Amino acid sequence: MMATTHVFAGLAIVAPLAHVAPEFAVPLAAGAIAGGLFPDFDLAFEHRRTLHFPVYGSVLAVLATIGAVLVPSSPTVGFAAFAVAAWLHAASDALGNGPEFDPWTDARENAVYNHFAGRWMQARRYVRYDGAPEDFALGLALAVPALVVFDGRVRVVVAAALVPAFAYTLFRRQVADLVPAWLE
Ligand SMILES: [Zn+2]
Repeated sequence: MMATTHVFAGLAIVAPLAHVAPEFAVPLAAGAIAGGLFPDFDLAFEHRRTLHFPVYGSVLAVLATIGAVLVPSSPTVGFAAFAVAAWLHAASDALGNGPEFDPWTDARENAVYNHFAGRWMQARRYVRYDGAPEDFALGLALAVPALVVFDGRVRVVVAAALVPAFAYTLFRRQVADLVPAWLE
């Protein structure tokens, strides 16, 4: 799934909380955006393994959420949003494709590493590849709660992020053809 889809998923999860506790809207949004992006920083390491924790991430997410409930403050709430969004990103990577950049000629089956079981989770391809039409449609649907609940800068960021996501979806095939093999 596209980075934007992961971010919108994180924002959709925290949107109801931001609605009932608007004083925490900013840390909730910042945490969800950072958490939605964070796992893919392992592109520079072992992608979908170094910073993706589909099982252990749920433990951290639960603990961080308990901490935020017990001691509600901007840092604890923001960290809980981060942990939940990062876990959701890692877990949902198993629902999409493998880490290949060109799904038409180079499909791979290892979707995300399960550190608990010590093996890779297989790509289920409910979303066939990042930038697939269903990926954009899912992201668009997930962006709606954030667009409704948040205002100001968060809403602008969400709306603006839809533009490159749409362009990427539109030209996904050409992008895969253009990028040289060594870059992958
Ligand atoms: Zn990922």
